[in-house]
Amino acid sequence: MKKIAIILAAGKGSRMKQNTPKQYICVEGTPIILYTLKTFQESIVDEIILVVGEGEVAYCEQELQIPQKYSKVTQIIVGGKERYDSVYNALSMIKDKQCYVMIHDGARPLVSQEIISKSFAEVATNNSVVVGVPVKDTIKEVEADMYIGKTIPREQLWQIQTPQTFFYILLKEAYEKMMEQKDNTITDDAMVMEKYGVTKTKIIEGDYKNIKITTPEDLIIFQAYLQMQHNDSIL
Ligand code: C5P
Repeated sequence: MKKIAIILAAGKGSRMKQNTPKQYICVEGTPIILYTLKTFQESIVDEIILVVGEGEVAYCEQELQIPQKYSKVTQIIVGGKERYDSVYNALSMIKDKQCYVMIHDGARPLVSQEIISKSFAEVATNNSVVVGVPVKDTIKEVEADMYIGKTIPREQLWQIQTPQTFFYILLKEAYEKMMEQKDNTITDDAMVMEKYGVTKTKIIEGDYKNIKITTPEDLIIFQAYLQMQHNDSIL
């Protein structure tokens, strides 16, 4: 079955506090989004749909030369106001219903081939699969006045990342129901499946390294990992 990746890069990245949207910030001379695309280009996916912000398609095509450099990118489309609007736009562009769809944040450039391959292997039996890592810190529920309400038992807590991979039809149907309800509480695709889907979602262990670049210190962490990879390759 065909494997389609949706790479999300339509966010404004306001928590980064820079004029350039975070996915286009250059690290070691290369925009973050290109690190993500390179990994997917070299992966087992057949096709990539890249979702970008309003007015950014020409920049991606002409300045970054994405279609020329990454032959698996078959469409560059415009996203929406929220992450789930961007995903829905991309899901609506897929014509071949018998496929697997993998959704990934463009701002997670350290995703590995192993994670991508493991996710596709698992979706063949489970239909809905996300990667995550056990939570390391103690997590508290905090009340409006900034007093602690309660501590949530850590053994059951996992931090969910992307990629999130689905049998296309099941995710599309769940998204249709969510959009009909105008539900604006959605923060990831697994949550759409939880609330509107017909199947449970399996978690497979990802990697703490697969960070989402969100705030300025994440850029330093990303740079450190790149340096580590570089050092490994010359040893
Ligand atoms: O905002 P957040 O960091 O959660 O975004 C996760 C990913 O979703 C990022 O790669 C971002 O570019 C993307 N996104 C999007 N459309 C939006 C908001 C976020 O494609 N409206």
